[in-house]
Amino acid sequence: MTAARSLTTVAELAAAGLLPEEKRPAATAVAERYAVAVTPALAALIDADDPLDPIARQFIPDAAELVTLPEERADPIGDLAHSPVEGIVHRYPDRVLLKAVHVCPVYCRFCFRREMVGPEGLGTLSPGALDTAIAYIAERPEIWEVILTGGDPLVLSPRRLQAIMERLAAIDHVKIVRFHSRVPVVDPERIDAALIEALKASGKTTYVALHANHPREFTAEARAAIARIVDAGMVMISQTVLLRGVNDDAEVLAALMRAFVENRVKPYYLHHPDLAPGTAHFRLSLAEGRALVESLRGRVSGLCQPAYILDIPGGHGKVRADSPAVEEADDGCFRLRDFRGKTHVYPPEEGLAS
Ligand code: SF4
Repeated sequence: MTAARSLTTVAELAAAGLLPEEKRPAATAVAERYAVAVTPALAALIDADDPLDPIARQFIPDAAELVTLPEERADPIGDLAHSPVEGIVHRYPDRVLLKAVHVCPVYCRFCFRREMVGPEGLGTLSPGALDTAIAYIAERPEIWEVILTGGDPLVLSPRRLQAIMERLAAIDHVKIVRFHSRVPVVDPERIDAALIEALKASGKTTYVALHANHPREFTAEARAAIARIVDAGMVMISQTVLLRGVNDDAEVLAALMRAFVENRVKPYYLHHPDLAPGTAHFRLSLAEGRALVESLRGRVSGLCQPAYILDIPGGHGKVRADSPAVEEADDGCFRLRDFRGKTHVYPPEEGLAS
Protein backbone atom coordinates (compact mmCIF):
# COMPACT_ATOMS: atom_id res chain seq x y z
CA MET A 1 0.00 0.00 0.00
CA THR A 2 1.39 3.43 -0.91
CA ALA A 3 0.83 6.25 1.58
CA ALA A 4 -0.25 9.66 0.30
CA ARG A 5 1.59 11.52 3.05
CA SER A 6 4.21 10.73 5.66
CA LEU A 7 3.29 8.18 8.32
CA THR A 8 4.07 9.63 11.74
CA THR A 9 2.19 7.48 14.24
CA VAL A 10 2.10 3.81 15.16
CA ALA A 11 -1.57 3.70 14.11
CA GLU A 12 -0.66 5.03 10.65
CA LEU A 13 2.20 2.56 10.25
CA ALA A 14 -0.13 -0.25 11.30
CA ALA A 15 -2.86 0.88 8.90
CA ALA A 16 -0.30 0.91 6.07
CA GLY A 17 0.58 -2.71 6.86
CA LEU A 18 4.13 -1.80 7.98
CA LEU A 19 3.88 -2.85 11.63
CA PRO A 20 2.70 -6.33 12.63
CA GLU A 21 0.25 -6.44 15.53
CA GLU A 22 2.66 -8.08 17.99
CA LYS A 23 5.17 -5.25 17.56
CA ARG A 24 2.73 -2.39 18.13
CA PRO A 25 2.85 -2.10 21.96
CA ALA A 26 6.65 -1.70 21.99
CA ALA A 27 6.52 0.61 18.96
CA THR A 28 4.03 2.79 20.84
CA ALA A 29 6.44 3.08 23.78
CA VAL A 30 9.29 3.95 21.38
CA ALA A 31 7.20 6.58 19.59
CA GLU A 32 6.50 8.29 22.92
CA ARG A 33 10.24 8.81 23.30
CA TYR A 34 11.60 9.30 19.74
CA ALA A 35 10.06 10.87 16.63
CA VAL A 36 8.64 8.70 13.85
CA ALA A 37 8.18 9.60 10.17
CA VAL A 38 8.15 7.48 7.03
CA THR A 39 7.64 9.29 3.72
CA PRO A 40 5.41 7.86 0.98
CA ALA A 41 8.49 7.09 -1.14
CA LEU A 42 9.97 4.96 1.65
CA ALA A 43 6.68 3.33 2.63
CA ALA A 44 6.43 2.14 -0.98
CA LEU A 45 9.96 0.76 -0.79
CA ILE A 46 9.46 -1.38 2.31
CA ASP A 47 8.82 -5.07 1.77
CA ALA A 48 6.33 -5.70 4.59
CA ASP A 49 6.57 -9.46 4.04
CA ASP A 50 10.28 -9.49 4.85
CA PRO A 51 10.89 -9.32 8.63
CA LEU A 52 14.54 -8.42 7.88
CA ASP A 53 13.81 -5.72 5.32
CA PRO A 54 16.75 -3.26 5.47
CA ILE A 55 14.58 -0.25 4.66
CA ALA A 56 12.03 -1.06 7.38
CA ARG A 57 14.86 -1.62 9.85
CA GLN A 58 16.04 1.97 9.35
CA PHE A 59 12.66 3.63 9.90
CA ILE A 60 10.09 1.42 11.69
CA PRO A 61 10.27 1.75 15.51
CA ASP A 62 11.53 -1.36 17.27
CA ALA A 63 11.46 -2.67 20.87
CA ALA A 64 15.29 -2.70 20.94
CA GLU A 65 15.22 1.12 21.06
CA LEU A 66 13.85 0.94 24.59
CA VAL A 67 17.21 -0.40 25.84
CA THR A 68 19.80 2.30 26.59
CA LEU A 69 23.33 1.14 27.44
CA PRO A 70 25.52 2.92 30.01
CA GLU A 71 27.98 4.12 27.34
CA GLU A 72 25.22 5.64 25.20
CA ARG A 73 24.58 9.34 25.57
CA ALA A 74 22.05 12.00 24.51
CA ASP A 75 24.68 14.03 22.63
CA PRO A 76 27.00 11.29 21.31
CA ILE A 77 29.28 13.45 19.18
CA GLY A 78 29.38 16.35 21.63
CA ASP A 79 27.65 19.08 19.62
CA LEU A 80 26.70 21.00 22.74
CA ALA A 81 30.30 21.23 23.95
CA HIS A 82 31.17 23.18 20.78
CA SER A 83 28.10 25.37 20.38
CA PRO A 84 29.08 28.98 21.09
CA VAL A 85 25.67 30.33 20.01
CA GLU A 86 22.38 28.61 19.28
CA GLY A 87 22.39 26.87 15.89
CA ILE A 88 26.20 26.87 15.47
CA VAL A 89 28.63 24.02 16.18
CA HIS A 90 32.27 25.18 15.82
CA ARG A 91 34.44 22.10 16.36
CA TYR A 92 37.20 22.67 13.79
CA PRO A 93 38.81 26.04 13.07
CA ASP A 94 37.87 26.46 9.38
CA ARG A 95 34.24 25.30 9.36
CA VAL A 96 30.99 25.47 11.28
CA LEU A 97 27.74 23.56 11.32
CA LEU A 98 24.70 25.77 10.89
CA LYS A 99 21.70 23.92 12.30
CA ALA A 100 18.78 26.00 11.06
CA VAL A 101 16.18 23.31 11.59
CA HIS A 102 15.76 20.21 13.76
CA VAL A 103 13.06 18.54 11.70
CA CYS A 104 13.62 15.70 9.19
CA PRO A 105 11.46 14.18 6.47
CA VAL A 106 12.10 10.76 8.04
CA TYR A 107 13.33 9.78 11.47
CA CYS A 108 16.13 7.22 11.30
CA ARG A 109 15.96 4.76 14.18
CA PHE A 110 19.76 5.04 14.65
CA CYS A 111 19.91 8.86 14.51
CA PHE A 112 22.87 10.37 16.35
CA ARG A 113 20.83 13.52 17.08
CA ARG A 114 17.66 11.68 18.06
CA GLU A 115 17.36 13.60 21.32
CA MET A 116 17.39 16.91 19.41
CA VAL A 117 15.37 16.28 16.24
CA GLY A 118 11.66 15.75 15.71
CA PRO A 119 8.45 17.70 16.15
CA GLU A 120 9.16 17.87 19.89
CA GLY A 121 12.83 18.67 19.30
CA LEU A 122 14.66 21.99 19.09
CA GLY A 123 12.50 23.21 16.15
CA THR A 124 13.61 25.89 13.69
CA LEU A 125 15.98 28.72 14.64
CA SER A 126 14.07 31.89 15.53
CA PRO A 127 14.84 34.97 13.38
CA GLY A 128 16.84 36.44 16.28
CA ALA A 129 18.86 33.26 16.79
CA LEU A 130 19.53 33.06 13.05
CA ASP A 131 20.79 36.68 13.09
CA THR A 132 23.18 35.78 15.93
CA ALA A 133 24.38 32.62 14.12
CA ILE A 134 25.01 34.52 10.86
CA ALA A 135 26.81 37.28 12.77
CA TYR A 136 29.03 34.64 14.43
CA ILE A 137 30.10 33.41 10.97
CA ALA A 138 30.52 36.93 9.56
CA GLU A 139 32.80 38.00 12.43
CA ARG A 140 35.26 35.09 11.99
CA PRO A 141 37.40 35.23 8.84
CA GLU A 142 38.79 31.76 9.57
CA ILE A 143 35.41 30.19 8.70
CA TRP A 144 35.88 28.95 5.14
CA GLU A 145 33.00 26.46 5.00
CA VAL A 146 29.44 26.48 6.32
CA ILE A 147 27.72 23.09 6.65
CA LEU A 148 23.94 23.14 6.84
CA THR A 149 22.73 20.17 8.77
CA GLY A 150 20.30 19.64 11.56
CA GLY A 151 17.69 18.17 11.11
CA ASP A 152 17.54 18.13 7.36
CA PRO A 153 18.01 21.61 5.83
CA LEU A 154 16.18 20.58 2.66
CA VAL A 155 12.88 20.47 4.55
CA LEU A 156 13.02 24.27 4.76
CA SER A 157 10.87 26.06 2.21
CA PRO A 158 12.80 27.33 -0.83
CA ARG A 159 11.97 30.89 0.26
CA ARG A 160 13.47 30.37 3.71
CA LEU A 161 16.51 28.54 2.40
CA GLN A 162 17.10 31.24 -0.22
CA ALA A 163 17.00 33.92 2.48
CA ILE A 164 19.71 32.11 4.47
CA MET A 165 21.83 31.58 1.34
CA GLU A 166 21.61 35.24 0.41
CA ARG A 167 22.97 36.16 3.84
CA LEU A 168 25.90 33.75 3.39
CA ALA A 169 26.50 35.26 -0.06
CA ALA A 170 27.38 38.53 1.65
CA ILE A 171 30.18 36.94 3.71
CA ASP A 172 33.31 36.98 1.54
CA HIS A 173 35.45 34.62 3.59
CA VAL A 174 32.89 31.80 3.30
CA LYS A 175 33.89 30.01 0.12
CA ILE A 176 32.05 26.69 0.48
CA VAL A 177 28.47 25.85 1.43
CA ARG A 178 27.64 22.24 2.14
CA PHE A 179 24.22 20.67 2.78
CA HIS A 180 23.71 17.31 4.44
CA SER A 181 20.42 15.73 3.41
CA ARG A 182 18.32 12.60 3.13
CA VAL A 183 15.72 14.33 0.93
CA PRO A 184 16.89 13.25 -2.57
CA VAL A 185 16.21 9.60 -1.68
CA VAL A 186 13.40 9.82 0.88
CA ASP A 187 11.32 12.61 -0.71
CA PRO A 188 12.71 13.04 -4.23
CA GLU A 189 9.81 15.14 -5.55
CA ARG A 190 10.87 17.88 -3.17
CA ILE A 191 13.95 18.52 -5.31
CA ASP A 192 12.20 20.87 -7.71
CA ALA A 193 13.33 23.96 -9.61
CA ALA A 194 12.56 26.31 -6.71
CA LEU A 195 14.57 24.27 -4.21
CA ILE A 196 17.51 23.97 -6.62
CA GLU A 197 17.50 27.75 -7.07
CA ALA A 198 17.53 28.21 -3.32
CA LEU A 199 20.41 25.75 -2.83
CA LYS A 200 22.52 27.73 -5.29
CA ALA A 201 21.53 31.17 -4.07
CA SER A 202 24.71 31.81 -2.06
CA GLY A 203 26.73 31.86 -5.29
CA LYS A 204 29.44 29.89 -3.45
CA THR A 205 30.78 26.51 -4.46
CA THR A 206 28.02 24.23 -3.18
CA TYR A 207 28.24 20.62 -2.09
CA VAL A 208 25.31 18.34 -1.25
CA ALA A 209 26.16 15.34 0.93
CA LEU A 210 23.56 12.64 0.38
CA HIS A 211 22.82 10.28 3.27
CA ALA A 212 21.85 6.82 1.94
CA ASN A 213 22.45 3.42 3.50
CA HIS A 214 21.19 0.75 1.13
CA PRO A 215 21.31 0.36 -2.67
CA ARG A 216 17.54 -0.09 -2.82
CA GLU A 217 17.18 3.58 -1.81
CA PHE A 218 18.29 4.48 -5.36
CA THR A 219 14.85 4.32 -6.98
CA ALA A 220 14.24 5.84 -10.41
CA GLU A 221 12.74 8.92 -8.68
CA ALA A 222 15.73 9.25 -6.35
CA ARG A 223 18.18 8.96 -9.25
CA ALA A 224 16.29 11.65 -11.15
CA ALA A 225 16.37 13.97 -8.09
CA ILE A 226 20.13 13.46 -7.73
CA ALA A 227 20.59 14.21 -11.43
CA ARG A 228 18.69 17.49 -11.06
CA ILE A 229 21.11 18.60 -8.33
CA VAL A 230 24.27 17.56 -10.18
CA ASP A 231 23.05 18.97 -13.50
CA ALA A 232 22.49 22.29 -11.72
CA GLY A 233 26.23 22.47 -11.03
CA MET A 234 26.46 21.28 -7.44
CA VAL A 235 28.93 18.64 -6.35
CA MET A 236 27.50 15.62 -4.57
CA ILE A 237 29.28 13.48 -2.00
CA SER A 238 27.93 10.62 0.09
CA GLN A 239 27.52 9.73 3.70
CA THR A 240 26.47 6.32 4.95
CA VAL A 241 26.11 4.90 8.43
CA LEU A 242 27.44 1.37 8.79
CA LEU A 243 24.46 -0.47 10.29
CA ARG A 244 23.96 -4.02 11.45
CA GLY A 245 21.14 -5.63 9.50
CA VAL A 246 21.15 -2.90 6.83
CA ASN A 247 24.52 -2.73 5.11
CA ASP A 248 26.96 -4.82 7.20
CA ASP A 249 27.64 -7.05 4.25
CA ALA A 250 30.45 -6.71 1.72
CA GLU A 251 28.16 -7.22 -1.31
CA VAL A 252 25.55 -4.72 -0.10
CA LEU A 253 28.20 -2.15 0.77
CA ALA A 254 29.88 -2.57 -2.62
CA ALA A 255 26.53 -2.20 -4.43
CA LEU A 256 25.75 0.91 -2.38
CA MET A 257 29.08 2.59 -3.16
CA ARG A 258 28.70 1.73 -6.83
CA ALA A 259 25.18 3.20 -6.82
CA PHE A 260 26.58 6.46 -5.48
CA VAL A 261 29.30 6.61 -8.12
CA GLU A 262 26.97 5.64 -10.97
CA ASN A 263 24.77 8.55 -9.94
CA ARG A 264 27.66 11.05 -9.80
CA VAL A 265 27.86 11.08 -6.00
CA LYS A 266 31.44 10.62 -4.77
CA PRO A 267 31.63 8.30 -1.73
CA TYR A 268 32.87 10.40 1.16
CA TYR A 269 31.97 9.22 4.67
CA LEU A 270 31.18 5.76 5.97
CA HIS A 271 30.33 6.45 9.62
CA HIS A 272 30.83 3.97 12.38
CA PRO A 273 27.49 4.14 14.25
CA ASP A 274 27.48 6.61 17.15
CA LEU A 275 26.60 5.88 20.77
CA ALA A 276 23.08 7.29 20.49
CA PRO A 277 20.58 6.03 23.07
CA GLY A 278 18.69 2.86 22.15
CA THR A 279 20.79 2.05 19.09
CA ALA A 280 23.00 -0.84 20.28
CA HIS A 281 21.20 -3.27 17.93
CA PHE A 282 22.63 -1.32 14.98
CA ARG A 283 26.23 -1.18 16.17
CA LEU A 284 29.06 -3.33 14.87
CA SER A 285 32.37 -3.60 16.63
CA LEU A 286 35.21 -1.52 15.23
CA ALA A 287 36.97 -4.78 14.27
CA GLU A 288 33.93 -5.88 12.23
CA GLY A 289 33.71 -2.50 10.56
CA ARG A 290 37.38 -2.53 9.66
CA ALA A 291 37.08 -5.98 8.10
CA LEU A 292 34.15 -4.83 5.95
CA VAL A 293 35.99 -1.73 4.78
CA GLU A 294 39.04 -3.85 3.99
CA SER A 295 36.86 -6.14 1.88
CA LEU A 296 35.79 -3.15 -0.22
CA ARG A 297 39.39 -2.40 -1.17
CA GLY A 298 39.93 -5.36 -3.41
CA ARG A 299 36.35 -5.58 -4.55
CA VAL A 300 35.45 -2.21 -6.04
CA SER A 301 37.04 0.67 -7.92
CA GLY A 302 38.99 3.35 -6.07
CA LEU A 303 36.16 5.73 -6.96
CA CYS A 304 33.91 3.69 -4.67
CA GLN A 305 36.08 3.89 -1.53
CA PRO A 306 34.67 6.03 1.30
CA ALA A 307 36.59 7.22 4.36
CA TYR A 308 35.64 5.03 7.33
CA ILE A 309 35.08 7.51 10.15
CA LEU A 310 34.42 7.39 13.86
CA ASP A 311 33.21 10.49 15.68
CA ILE A 312 35.06 10.41 18.98
CA PRO A 313 32.46 10.53 21.79
CA GLY A 314 32.48 13.76 23.74
CA GLY A 315 33.00 16.11 20.79
CA HIS A 316 36.68 15.46 20.02
CA GLY A 317 36.11 15.28 16.28
CA LYS A 318 36.47 12.59 13.66
CA VAL A 319 39.16 9.96 13.30
CA ARG A 320 39.78 7.55 10.41
CA ALA A 321 38.66 4.24 11.94
CA ASP A 322 41.02 2.22 9.76
CA SER A 323 44.10 4.36 10.37
CA PRO A 324 47.01 4.09 12.85
CA ALA A 325 45.21 6.75 14.94
CA VAL A 326 42.91 3.91 16.08
CA GLU A 327 44.75 1.14 17.93
CA GLU A 328 43.35 -1.97 19.58
CA ALA A 329 44.63 -2.34 23.15
CA ASP A 330 45.17 -5.50 25.24
CA ASP A 331 42.01 -4.77 27.28
CA GLY A 332 39.85 -5.21 24.15
CA CYS A 333 39.15 -1.45 23.99
CA PHE A 334 40.58 0.89 21.38
CA ARG A 335 42.76 3.96 21.83
CA LEU A 336 41.79 6.83 19.53
CA ARG A 337 44.06 9.80 18.79
CA ASP A 338 42.12 12.96 17.94
CA PHE A 339 43.24 15.70 15.53
CA ARG A 340 44.84 17.57 18.45
CA GLY A 341 46.93 14.51 19.39
CA LYS A 342 44.93 13.67 22.54
CA THR A 343 44.14 10.00 23.25
CA HIS A 344 40.67 8.64 24.14
CA VAL A 345 39.42 5.17 25.12
CA TYR A 346 36.71 3.59 22.97
CA PRO A 347 34.12 2.51 23.87
CA PRO A 348 34.21 5.19 26.58
CA GLU A 349 33.68 4.29 30.19
CA GLU A 350 30.24 4.52 31.73
CA GLY A 351 29.38 7.95 33.09
CA LEU A 352 31.77 9.92 30.87
CA ALA A 353 30.23 13.35 30.25
CA SER A 354 28.81 13.71 26.75
S1 SF4 B 1 17.98 12.38 8.56
FE1 SF4 B 1 19.86 12.59 9.81
S2 SF4 B 1 19.28 14.00 11.48
FE2 SF4 B 1 17.36 13.26 10.54
S3 SF4 B 1 16.76 11.45 11.70
FE3 SF4 B 1 18.02 10.67 10.01
S4 SF4 B 1 20.12 10.60 10.83
FE4 SF4 B 1 18.89 11.92 12.21
